Amino acid sequence: MIDSCSIEAKSLISIERALLIIKQSIAPVHEIERVVLKIARNRILSSPVYCPINIPPDKNSAMDGYAFSSSDRKPNQSFSLSQAGTSWAGKPYDNKLKKNECIRIFTGAVVPDEADSVIMQESIEKSENNIIFPANTIAGQNIREAGCDIKIKSELLTTPKKLSAIDIALLASAGIYDVPVYRKLNIAFFSTGDELTAIGNPLKAGQIYDSNRYALYGLLSNSNFNIYDLGVIADDKLLLEETLVSAANTHDVIISTGGASVGDADYIKEILEKCGTVAFWKIAIKPGKPLAFGKIKNCYFFGLPGNPVSVIATFHKIVFPALQHLAGIPIQKAIQLLAVCTSDIKKEKGRQEYQRGILTQNKPGEFHVKSAGKQGSNIMSSMSRANCYIVLPINSTGVSVGEQVVVEPFENII
Ligand code: AMP
Ligand code: MG
Repeated sequence: MIDSCSIEAKSLISIERALLIIKQSIAPVHEIERVVLKIARNRILSSPVYCPINIPPDKNSAMDGYAFSSSDRKPNQSFSLSQAGTSWAGKPYDNKLKKNECIRIFTGAVVPDEADSVIMQESIEKSENNIIFPANTIAGQNIREAGCDIKIKSELLTTPKKLSAIDIALLASAGIYDVPVYRKLNIAFFSTGDELTAIGNPLKAGQIYDSNRYALYGLLSNSNFNIYDLGVIADDKLLLEETLVSAANTHDVIISTGGASVGDADYIKEILEKCGTVAFWKIAIKPGKPLAFGKIKNCYFFGLPGNPVSVIATFHKIVFPALQHLAGIPIQKAIQLLAVCTSDIKKEKGRQEYQRGILTQNKPGEFHVKSAGKQGSNIMSSMSRANCYIVLPINSTGVSVGEQVVVEPFENII
């Protein structure tokens, strides 16, 4: 699937095509581990879970009140039953309920087999040890049957499934202690560039601080990933080759930023062609046109552009979907919604653009979006202000105030 010589490697391909190739080229992990519920949140369930018990396990009361048998009712008349005992939550009434008997019962407490109804405590009157039920007492109310939520042996959770806090509560309600999940991905990342200085050091002439590793550090913080920061690697062919080949032995994925285009100091392409299988792509998106995807031994490699905004956009649009697929979960499409654009936006034909926008919702509930500011792929301030991408199709030539545009809120894509 990964073919450096293909025509696609030289021409501009659509993002959909790039994702399809990625999906066909990446084999999801299959190794499984068991994790206890407290650390299972956001992990990927590897096989369906069946419920070992009925939930709830027993017929129980939905109210504080009195449990009785509807056969003791008198048609259109009030009736009186003697209170034989009490069923507390966790402490059931352990005798049989006889004819003309009722019991005091509390929410969640077991309803005796002989009873089929619970009346709420506000509806009765008491007379010594007798409980007087009104003439309109209804049969069969306020009872939660055993298994009314989930039946024993039925499917509790199905795959594919990223476990949410709610799923974990559901598993706990079935008494399940641990679950099988796909193992975590081991992901290494590094920055390249002689101009890069790690934060904490003063800048020398011509230097800039390395921000891309910090972007990746945040973007890769995920329950399904073990991440390894390999630091800044200079524009040194030998060093880059050593770093890549050695990281490929011990990781599932390597992500680099910078050095991936065609400048004199851009060595990534050359090294990958020597050490692995590589597709260099020009994806028809902006920001983030040049991107390398390939494989060194059994390790997948993503060579992202150097410009910080391009790193983030290509991570969102290409790398994260690929990691989802590798981790064993279907690629989730970003949620899109329509918003009225309140800025004029310039665009040239030719690439799908992900401009950085600020999305708001007014009182009647309409979505409005405006540009977050300058849109250069080096402009991090507007990326930081933004809360969404404004998605402009390949053939769009810009947007005027008042036109509707498609937006993708960040919260749903990260
Ligand atoms: P390159 O792809 O290496 O030519 O880099 C493109 C641009 O991104 C240049 O202006 C670089 O200085 C900048 N750049 C590359 N890597 C980083 C980084 N880790 N942090 C911030 N800027 C970077
Ligand atoms: Mg560079």
